[in-house]
Amino acid sequence: MIKIAKLISGSKISAQIKDEVQAEIAQMKKEKNKVPGLAVILVGENPASKVYVANKEKGCNQVGIHSETIHMEDTVSTEEILAEIDKLNNRDDIHGILVQLPLPKQVDSGKVLMAIKPEKDVDGFHPVNMGKLVAQQDCLVPATPSGIVEMLKRENITLKGKNVTMVGHSEIVGKPCTLLFLNEWATVTICHIETKDLKMHTQNADIIVVATGVPYLIKEDMVKQGAVVIDVGINRITKEDASPELLEWRKQDFEKKGATLIGDVDFQKVEPKVSHISPVPGGVGPMTIAMLLKNTLKAAKTAAE
Ligand code: NAD
Repeated sequence: MIKIAKLISGSKISAQIKDEVQAEIAQMKKEKNKVPGLAVILVGENPASKVYVANKEKGCNQVGIHSETIHMEDTVSTEEILAEIDKLNNRDDIHGILVQLPLPKQVDSGKVLMAIKPEKDVDGFHPVNMGKLVAQQDCLVPATPSGIVEMLKRENITLKGKNVTMVGHSEIVGKPCTLLFLNEWATVTICHIETKDLKMHTQNADIIVVATGVPYLIKEDMVKQGAVVIDVGINRITKEDASPELLEWRKQDFEKKGATLIGDVDFQKVEPKVSHISPVPGGVGPMTIAMLLKNTLKAAKTAAE
């Protein structure tokens, strides 16, 4: 008999979180006549960035956060973005500021992210927030990593004492994830593009978290029976590049859109072997938005203290 894993539905869990955030905002409005405010700086016309920003605006509207998008030309200079951030840093009605990445080549992204006031840095990318995370001090934690920990908690999957393998070591996912797992007393192995034998590190893991942007990186033989798999990757596969299995599985997507989204895990082969797995889409993606909204509420509450 083929055992099918429990799907960890980020869509469902994120809806619960949004409900909780919405209820707190309603209370804040009633008691203090204030709502949290989020400003997003969007540069250029990158279609993926536009979709992400639209989703963030939609999330804000759902829970009662005031949102503003500042759309700048892709010829913008670092100084022009810094001037915009300075204005937002000084506004009392804006509690969260985020700059949609990637920025065009001429812009110094590091300088831009450093300019956001750490108290308003709802993406949690500022070195002050990163440093506080290392020191286990209260801070704004990047949304995708905190969303992953929240997903595991709400599925009653404990991290304490578990062997966790994190595949990917980026500043926005892999590194902060690793710190959060350590803070929960997991034993963490971090892998990246230069890791010599990835399978050796994944096959004994109780929990595998993958964030690489490499479709089909994690295969059936790399995963222990009964493991938990969290797939962070988002890869757009067009009809031309799809395998016959994927064409069949995602038939509707290909017919409607000519493409589909998959993660970094060979889902169809890995699923029967594991105890829990997060799907793509509908897994980590919606959690990221929900945790961003939660961070904006947190920033607003801190500002009101
Ligand atoms: P990144 O490009 O900054 O980092 C990729 C990481 O993967 C690096 O550590 C690299 O060394 C590692 N890597 C690449 N190829 C590898 C291989 N063959 N073996 C082992 N390690 C390898 O990427 P990122 O910004 O962390 O994003 C990773 C993926 O997660 C992307 O697909 C991105 O779209 C997705 N993502 C999803 C969400 C979400 O909300 N669901 C949020 C952020 C990123």
